[in-house]
Amino acid sequence: MPIEIPSHDDHNDLREAVRALCDEYDGAYWRQVDEERGYPEAFVTALTRAGWMAALIPEEYGGSGLGLTEASIIMEEINHAGGNSGACHGQMYNMSTLLRAGSEEQKRKYLPGIASGDLRLQSMAVTEPTTGSDTTKLKTTAVRKGDRYVVNGQKVWTSRLQHSDLMILLARTTPLDQVAKKSEGLSVFVVDLRDAVGNGMTVHPIRNMVNHETNSVFFDDLEIPVENRIGEEGRGFRYILEGLNAERALIAAECIGDGHWFIEKASAYAGERVVFDQPIGKNQGIQFPIARSYVDVEAASLMRFKACRLHDAGKPCGAEANMAKLLAADASWAAANACMQTFGGFGFAAEYDVERKFRETRLYQVAPISTNLILAYVGEHVLRMPRSY
Ligand SMILES: Cc1cc2nc3c(=O)[nH]c(=O)nc-3n(C[C@H](O)[C@H](O)[C@H](O)COP(=O)(O)OP(=O)(O)OC[C@H]3O[C@@H](n4cnc5c(N)ncnc54)[C@H](O)[C@@H]3O)c2cc1C
Repeated sequence: MPIEIPSHDDHNDLREAVRALCDEYDGAYWRQVDEERGYPEAFVTALTRAGWMAALIPEEYGGSGLGLTEASIIMEEINHAGGNSGACHGQMYNMSTLLRAGSEEQKRKYLPGIASGDLRLQSMAVTEPTTGSDTTKLKTTAVRKGDRYVVNGQKVWTSRLQHSDLMILLARTTPLDQVAKKSEGLSVFVVDLRDAVGNGMTVHPIRNMVNHETNSVFFDDLEIPVENRIGEEGRGFRYILEGLNAERALIAAECIGDGHWFIEKASAYAGERVVFDQPIGKNQGIQFPIARSYVDVEAASLMRFKACRLHDAGKPCGAEANMAKLLAADASWAAANACMQTFGGFGFAAEYDVERKFRETRLYQVAPISTNLILAYVGEHVLRMPRSY
């Protein structure tokens, strides 16, 4: 049995409730989903029915009306229990563009269904193969023709699309050479995948290192009704950016959950495994990396709570959300390595779940924003150094 290491905050009731649900879906469940490259449908349905996926949707639209702090704890506990929030975290935060920039009519149309789980909005198509992190140069266009937009272009790494009814799409509506700032002229749409796939939109799954459903998407004269544009034309990049701080804090929380999982696994194993007539945890070469990981995960957690607190108070939290994401992704990756090393050869055996979680947590150094781009953000926006790109 892993040793339960306490995490000190005031959310024990919430943690216990999420843990109770997660206990129904143990390592064997996640291992099987991973081996089958399947989707954790039973888990996501249970989480949705319990109301946790609708944490950030206000009560007037059928959600739980909780803050980002509570939402982050939900994500943390899923990963802490050995699960993978990456299968469903989009349902929690992708709707935020709609919530902040959508019309009242759009909110009434979509949010109650998203809150109940009847509608899944798990997918957001921003990244493109030729432009990568340089988002404002994206090449997918949406050209207005009467009461429709006609979309052409390509996206890559569009996740959870095959488990979604709706998708958020960022596309250029005014050519780059006709805008004063490159962040202008981009617009956001909600795409009804039930109509779009096969009618101007094709989807090709990308097999990847983790069991993460993600795709290449091609648009060939896809028609989107004008009423599916969210907010004003040309301001879409800003709407997406405004939602990213919440996303960063939630991903940080997932890394913190992963970190605690690795530390608990590693410290328990280090106490049990006897080699050269003593538990391997007596050796400082084994013990100290685990202890340092715990220090790092707890420190990242504090930055996560700071970001969430500022966000929930309606204050700017860009720096804190980005720093929390970086600290947490680094801490969980260090914890993953310490755990893998502690398990020795057994870390590679699927039945211990270490290799699965190791693969899963590695992703967060790269997506949804890579570590270098966070440092570039801190260098430019916090420290006021010249833009590095
Ligand atoms: C499994 C998975 C799921 C994903 N899901 C989604 C999704 O649902 N929706 C979506 O829109 N996107 C998604 N992404 C895309 C993800 O956000 C990008 O992969 C990420 O933003 C990095 O972009 P890129 O892969 O094009 O790397 P690139 O931009 O090509 O960068 C490659 C490397 O170069 C570094 N680099 C680039 N420019 C600089 C610079 N100026 N200074 C220093 N270093 C630099 C980067 O940090 C990175 O390490 C997903 C990616 C993966 C792998």
